[in-house]
Amino acid sequence: MSILPASELAAEAHVRVLIIGAGACGLVAGLAARGLGAEVMLLERDALPRGSTALSSGLIPAAGTRVQARQGIADSAAALAADILRKNHGRSDPDVTRAVAAASGGTIDWLMERHGLDLSVVEGFLYPGHATARMHGTPRRDGAELMDQLMAAGAAAGLDIVTQALATTLYADEAGRVAGVGLARPDGSRDAIGCDALVLACNGYGGAGDLLRAHIPQMAGALYSGHAGNQGDALRWGTALGAEARDLGAYQGHGSVAQPHGILVTWAVIMEGGIQVNLAGRRFSNEAAGYSEQAMPVLAQPGRVAFSIFGARQHAVAMQFEDFRQAEALGAIRRAESAAGLAALLGIDAAGLAATLDLYRRQPDGFGRDFSEAPDLGTPLYGVRVTGSLFHTQGGLSVDVSGRVRRADGTALPNLFAAGGAARGLSGPEVGGYLSGNGLLSAVVLGRIAGEAAARGSQG
Ligand SMILES: Cc1cc2nc3c(=O)[nH]c(=O)nc-3n(C[C@H](O)[C@H](O)[C@H](O)COP(=O)(O)OP(=O)(O)OC[C@H]3O[C@@H](n4cnc5c(N)ncnc54)[C@H](O)[C@@H]3O)c2cc1C
Repeated sequence: MSILPASELAAEAHVRVLIIGAGACGLVAGLAARGLGAEVMLLERDALPRGSTALSSGLIPAAGTRVQARQGIADSAAALAADILRKNHGRSDPDVTRAVAAASGGTIDWLMERHGLDLSVVEGFLYPGHATARMHGTPRRDGAELMDQLMAAGAAAGLDIVTQALATTLYADEAGRVAGVGLARPDGSRDAIGCDALVLACNGYGGAGDLLRAHIPQMAGALYSGHAGNQGDALRWGTALGAEARDLGAYQGHGSVAQPHGILVTWAVIMEGGIQVNLAGRRFSNEAAGYSEQAMPVLAQPGRVAFSIFGARQHAVAMQFEDFRQAEALGAIRRAESAAGLAALLGIDAAGLAATLDLYRRQPDGFGRDFSEAPDLGTPLYGVRVTGSLFHTQGGLSVDVSGRVRRADGTALPNLFAAGGAARGLSGPEVGGYLSGNGLLSAVVLGRIAGEAAARGSQG
């Protein structure tokens, strides 16, 4: 990944808005820029655009949407912003946080009504930290399905997506104005595309061992569940151009990835009253604090594994998620009529599990979790062996409320935009600041904002 002088650019073509990366962020930014009449091109390294988005559950938080209203859910942008800022202790950029929350409802309405996405609000349980039901997902609650729908919308809108095009080089002048991008093809051939504005939508550095070791060393050896192609290119280019990078130690972790299957087991099983125990059958944390921060306590257990234990009610809620259904089909989810039977299936200490199930609902529970509203797990019991995983990095290039990349002095680079995992996220500097859905909220909503701003900003 390099920066070369703008004078060396020999471009095959020129577009008004060039976008690197065709995950959710790039596709939504492209739809937004196209909607303003801009000529748009996306460069995507893979043969088929999938990104981390296709690996995700595809759930996008948004407030005040028409689909929420149809489902009888009252919500507001102010409430969403308050939940984000409460979770990160006020340590994300407050202006960007409020701008994204304010644009979230309209963005979901636009994606559904203008671009034909089929989204509804997940009901039946609340994600940790959210005051109300506001996670919008496709029918299967699946990121691959979200990508299919965004790709169909892109095709209908005439988006030009160039695949097998690894962006390698930015051509920029001394003021930091990007004149174009050089790309490499799998056969070794090279091209360059000129642009008036560039949107970095190539996610963070979850796949980049050197950047993980430097900024998130505690997760450098953990399972990475995101897209391997996210190599920190946006961070490397942006900082080389003088941009500020913030919150580089922040990330979305997850404490519930089926092991060894590698499939996400929805946190609904925990939020609805399930628990996590270790090989000794003992609880070790307040599981309800959040799935992101639970990655580390799980990794700290013997064998770097834990066991999520839940009942029939939690199982029924979880069955609305495609990845949970897959985990069950692959045999990751075990079921037994007694605690002793489940312990035997999972290979954990039977006496420890029996004691835990006997005691855990007594207050205080020792870890600060309130079980007063939770019903008994009952029988049958379900269990799954899980490990802690890195899902995506949350630090990135500092941006303003339009998605313009900023320098440390607050001034904006002339024509560079970033959103999604490429930009500083909404979680502040720590893993515990991640509120469910902050990833796609930034990809989809800030992606739309940045795409529109890039189209407008490059007009004159
Ligand atoms: C298992 C899992 C579950 C998740 N569930 C959720 C959820 O339900 N809700 C939520 O909000 N978040 C979730 N996330 C996080 C979410 O997936 C990401 O935050 C989001 O997908 C980021 O979108 P993006 O467009 O920025 O990046 P991506 O979708 O990763 O797209 C980036 C694209 O850029 C391409 N690219 C990278 N570098 C280059 C280059 N140099 N040249 C050309 N192309 C390049 C990549 O190939 C990729 O296609 C989950 C993550 C995981 C791993």
